Formats: sequence, structure tokens, C-alpha cells
Amino acid sequence: MSFPIVTMTCDRCGLQQPGVGGSGHEYVLPGGQKLPVWLQEGWCHDCSCIQPVESLDEKHWMDLIMQVRDELASVRSASRLLPRRLEYEQCFLGYRQYAGLMTDTAYGWSERLTEALLGLAHLAQRVSAPRCLRCGGTNVDASTADDEGVRLLHPGCGGTFQAEITGDILIRGPRSVRRYTAEGQFIGWFGVSRGDT
Ligand SMILES: [Zn+2]
Ligand SMILES: [Zn+2]
Repeated sequence: MSFPIVTMTCDRCGLQQPGVGGSGHEYVLPGGQKLPVWLQEGWCHDCSCIQPVESLDEKHWMDLIMQVRDELASVRSASRLLPRRLEYEQCFLGYRQYAGLMTDTAYGWSERLTEALLGLAHLAQRVSAPRCLRCGGTNVDASTADDEGVRLLHPGCGGTFQAEITGDILIRGPRSVRRYTAEGQFIGWFGVSRGDT
């Protein structure tokens, strides 16, 4: 799997900092459930550099709910054609494989909705302000994003960091994840992806 390499460059002093990768971080909730951590670039005043910072915005979870809603709506609008499609796909795929496909799809919807609701419940109970995911501090300035991309002020300089994709990196083999408590405190590295345990 390959991931883009993002470089952040200050438009005033030219300072360059690596951007932040989007995966490989997860929360372990008090009940043992796991949730992905939404990341954004932020300036950490304790680390004095750009670091991955938690994004505690319910928009991420609402987007997931809307996505499932749109997929369900498209199934409903196609339902007039469904009997024919079922007939065709059953012939084409064989009944067992087709039944498996439909079960997987429905499972995917309910799994994503469950995750989104859990994510919203997590945000509602969260006490701490967003943390730097490297030092755990909350003395951070988070980036903002608009149509023109990610923006982040360079404290003490007055410039703005602009994000640019400067290459890509190939990642092979099992990925490891960094796990955090529900309050964003680092627990440790684990050698498996979410859902494998
Ligand atoms: Zn600068
Ligand atoms: Zn930090």
C-alpha cells in the first residue's frame, strides 16, 4: 500500500516540516472497543514543531453516517430494478457468493453506523482538549482546512504553512498501530490493525 508524503512549508521563512499521516492511531475505550483517531496537523508548543494532533470534530462521524445514508438511499431508488438485478447476479455469481456479498454489504453498513455512534458518544464524554499525539500535551494550535488546502500558522514567524504532496511511500508487511486511551493518552505500540484482536 502506498501513502502520499506531505511536506509543510512556511510561506514566510521557508521552514519545512513533514506532514502528518492519516492512519495507524486508535483509541481503546473503557469498554475495550477500538475507534480510529482522526488526525490533523498542528503546531505543538511543547515539541516546537508540527505534530499529529487529535481532531475532536463530530463532522468526521456525521460524514460517515451521511455516507451510509446515501448508500441506503441509492439502494432504495434502485429497488424497482432489484429483482432483475438479483436474478442476473445470482446467475452470474452463484447464489452462495451473492448471498455472501449482500451480507457483507449490510454488515458494512451496520458496522460503520455502530462505529459512528460510538465515535459521537466518545466525543460527548471526552474531557481533555485535543492533544499532541507525540508528547500528549494540549498546548497546540490546530490547522484549518478549506478548498485551497490545509493551513497552519507558524507561531512567532507570522507565516503560514502550506501543504504539498512531495512523493509517496510504499508500506509493506503488517502495520503497527499506536493506541491511546479515550482521553488521548498514549498506551503503546501494537503490531496489529484495528479489528484483528
Ligand atoms: Zn515561518
Ligand atoms: Zn507535542
